[in-house]
Amino acid sequence: MSAIVPASSGSVVVERLATDITAAAAWLSDLDGAIGDGDHGVNLRHGFDLVRDRLEGGSSIADALRLIGTTLLEDVGGAMGPLYGVFFLTMASEADGHDFVNLQLFAQMLERATLEVTELGGAQPGDKTLIDVLHPASTAVSTSVSDGADFGSALEVMADTAERARDSTRAMMSRVGRSSRMAERSIGHVDAGAASCAVILRSLATSFRAEFVIQQ
Ligand code: ADP
Ligand code: MG
Repeated sequence: MSAIVPASSGSVVVERLATDITAAAAWLSDLDGAIGDGDHGVNLRHGFDLVRDRLEGGSSIADALRLIGTTLLEDVGGAMGPLYGVFFLTMASEADGHDFVNLQLFAQMLERATLEVTELGGAQPGDKTLIDVLHPASTAVSTSVSDGADFGSALEVMADTAERARDSTRAMMSRVGRSSRMAERSIGHVDAGAASCAVILRSLATSFRAEFVIQQ
């Protein structure tokens, strides 16, 4: 017996993301305001508002994630638009053609998406970006696969890892993006992109678990 998320859960997963991003938007913009330009949460919320308007009920996970990707890529500015655009587009292309997402497929989706965002942004772990959350979170899920863990606990471990990784960016000095101009003064602040990434991964963990079907 193992848990799977049916492909037809796409709309539910994306609605949950839009709700969670909207709830966190002001906090995310405050974080960005401390060491950047304060637009991170506002931009993300705007992107997810557009996604919600365009989302069709009953969308597949691949189609729904692709809608987020194209919307963020084409209609949202800032560093985050292209980075999260590529993140969601890559997740979508890995999910394409599958009737359901299981732990193995999800690990593959997250791993490929992390790789693509790293290549596009050029940031390395320790540079104080969303990469500092994506890398450990993706590694945690891959480790869950090799340990034979179940999908539910793998998602919990991923979201917990992401939140700890978000907090670890507080001690880092920004070396990439707008906040790198702050140099040492960026130390002591949580990175906004790391924070939004933790919100996104916690949201996916929550909606996936709510949509679980047990496969015999
Ligand atoms: P901008 O800096 O253009 O206002 P946003 O506010 O949308 O962009 O996003 C800022 C976040 O983007 C940062 O907190 C950081 O996590 C992330 N970021 C910026 N540049 C990069 C990069 N090259 N690679 C990965 N993440 C990055
Ligand atoms: Mg910004």
